[in-house]
Amino acid sequence: MQYFWGVVILLVIGALLGLLLAVASKAFAVKEDPRLEPITEMMPGINCGTCGYPGCKELVVAMLKGEVKNLGQCRPMRPDAKAKIKEYLANHPDEEGNILTVQG
Ligand code: SF4
Repeated sequence: MQYFWGVVILLVIGALLGLLLAVASKAFAVKEDPRLEPITEMMPGINCGTCGYPGCKELVVAMLKGEVKNLGQCRPMRPDAKAKIKEYLANHPDEEGNILTVQG
């Protein structure tokens, strides 16, 4: 019986911290562009850094922000992958309906 209240207090603290984490994860969630993951999967995935970004996903993030306008920046990318990404972007506008075009 002497451990009962200690266990109850720990359970209550655990539940409160869990609730706090759940609320914080909703309140501070970073909204990600839904095109990020599909395009990243179309990238070579080598993460060589030749493009000047630490990895393929970071290049896609920059591309979706409009900072990278040429897929030729990724030297290992095959032409069919470039065509696939261009086609995907043409068919998937951003939330405001703008279509992103890239060269390369
Ligand atoms: S050059 Fe291409 S393969 Fe290499 S990290 Fe950049 S996007 Fe990925």
